[in-house]
Amino acid sequence: SPRPAVIGLDLGTSGCRGVAIDDKGTLLAEARAELPAPLCPAPGWFEQDPYIWQEAVLAVLEELARQLKDHCPQALCIAATSGTLLLADENGGPLGPALMYNDCRAQDQAKRIAALAPAESAIHGPTSGLAKLLYLYEHLGRPPQALALHQGDWLSGLLGGRFASDWNNALKLGYDAECLTWPDWVRALIPSGVRLPEVLVPGTPIGALDPEIARRLHLPADLQVLAGTTDSTAAAYAAGLQQPGDALTVLGSTLVIKILAERPITDRRYGVYSQRFGDHWLVGGASNSGGAVLRQFFADQEIAALSALIDPERPSGLDYYPLTTPGERFPRPDPQLAPRLEPRPADPAQFLCGLLEGIARIEAEGYARLAELGAPRLRRVLTAGGGAVNPVWMRIRARLLGVPVNPAERTEAAVGAARLACREERQVDR
Ligand code: ADP
Repeated sequence: SPRPAVIGLDLGTSGCRGVAIDDKGTLLAEARAELPAPLCPAPGWFEQDPYIWQEAVLAVLEELARQLKDHCPQALCIAATSGTLLLADENGGPLGPALMYNDCRAQDQAKRIAALAPAESAIHGPTSGLAKLLYLYEHLGRPPQALALHQGDWLSGLLGGRFASDWNNALKLGYDAECLTWPDWVRALIPSGVRLPEVLVPGTPIGALDPEIARRLHLPADLQVLAGTTDSTAAAYAAGLQQPGDALTVLGSTLVIKILAERPITDRRYGVYSQRFGDHWLVGGASNSGGAVLRQFFADQEIAALSALIDPERPSGLDYYPLTTPGERFPRPDPQLAPRLEPRPADPAQFLCGLLEGIARIEAEGYARLAELGAPRLRRVLTAGGGAVNPVWMRIRARLLGVPVNPAERTEAAVGAARLACREERQVDR
């Protein structure tokens, strides 16, 4: 008889990626479908027709089903971009386009929210889900009935027959993930015809796969669709953070750090906020420093070649604060903070060493800042992003952080979503 499997999907801006894994985490199948670029009708406006997401998701599911010969998928979980929001009718039919995570047209709405929302809330600014909800309502002719849904909520609802959200996606719509309620000040801002989604625990069953879709894609009719999560939370599930003090550093164009904590921490000065993560909290901050500064000076192959010439145990003596342009958010909130990249040694390997150390010091300062705000002591750091391939940088970072630093085994949000589905399976089995 076929062995059990679970499916994880990740919907981003450029495409949908899907994986199937077994209960040991072994990769059984993977597939990808591209999405057309978001429409940009005016500067700062980014929108997409939700039905193109549906098309991409169904194409990926069909391909996964085709690849899964000896395994039977039992559950499916979707990670998606949390800032992307639409309004739908009571049957889930979109009332207009979705506003993408980076759309910032809801300026007036953000001002009205700022007048009512607590300073510490995660929903400030025109890109918050709440600002987009108000904008859509006002520009779709104030529909008498509408349901606010994130990208992943909508897709999970189409597949599972019930439209709901989860406590990760709902955070920037104003949901209080600590008290598990929509705060009164959020309710007060919502027009009377608009309904906020029900908020579920990520990974809980929402319903069996739509029978028509199951038949068409050759998937089992009893496949459970589970409540999803955000893409960045799913990446942390993929990395395998387990205990308070376990951390994940994402070394991409920018530097993002996240640490597992027992209590949530929010601090608007530093742009620090927390996502509920199983029984714990994922506390994160993002610096403007990161790999983009390396790319200003070196091609990726040069970084790899020059890194091999660096002795990671020997401090360069340089004291850089690498930034591409002035301005920093975290760990030093200062819109004027100037990049510090002087003096520049003639030896390019020495210069690179100074840059790698500089970014590593910002990483260490970031974790120290989180600890100052109440996060646990750092135990170990896993690494994702383009910089995770550099073993010399890993050693430099271990020296400056004072804890073990390793690459994360997996970092794809699709794998994280699948792991979340697996976890649920085990609970159901018990
Ligand atoms: P993005 O945030 O754009 O998705 P990626 O995760 O793809 O970024 O990472 C890209 C970054 O990785 C680049 O800015 C580049 O400087 C950096 N990078 C690439 N190769 C290396 C390397 N060998 N060592 C350190 N950094 C690297």
